[in-house]
Amino acid sequence: SKPVVAIVGRPNVGKSTLFNALAGEKIAIVKDTPGVTRDRIYAEVNWLDKEFTLIDTGGIEPDSRDVILSQMREQAQIAIDTADVILFMTDVKQGLVDSDSKVADMLRRSHKPVILVVNKVDNFNKMMPDVYEFYNLGIGDPVPISASERIGIGDMLDKVLAYF
Ligand code: GDP
Ligand code: MG
Repeated sequence: SKPVVAIVGRPNVGKSTLFNALAGEKIAIVKDTPGVTRDRIYAEVNWLDKEFTLIDTGGIEPDSRDVILSQMREQAQIAIDTADVILFMTDVKQGLVDSDSKVADMLRRSHKPVILVVNKVDNFNKMMPDVYEFYNLGIGDPVPISASERIGIGDMLDKVLAYF
């Protein structure tokens, strides 16, 4: 069957923006419980004649005991367990935060291939210096993208495909 790629990271880093940019129209929502953000969302994506299943997740707040946030974290863990490759998304505008480090720890425990994506790099010339701090996560080279401006997406997908 097709390889599975999951997008994970804290809420608001831009996971769904990237998902929607890649998914186009073909989106299937699998509802586990009433509500939207808690659900895993799947799309079939084609890139350079290769196909994969993409999963969006609601987001991971590592330490939250809030019911919704802990359900989102559970869903993200299921997506991680299902995935062949994980897109770990962070946000250059917020910079590296403690929650990112905790998500990185979760991902290391999965022993899955992880691509560290730094989103919201809307201007590569101006913002690249801010990308380098994400090397401190110790989970690989940061890949800069802007999901909303659709910059860097092709290079990121090439790195995903290299794992299939
Ligand atoms: P999610 O919670 O990780 O799924 O994040 P969303 O995709 O819902 O995006 C959170 C916010 O970040 C929204 O206001 C988006 O418009 C914004 N956003 C997403 N991608 C980018 C980007 O590449 N650049 C900028 N400047 N904003 C972005
Ligand atoms: Mg989202």
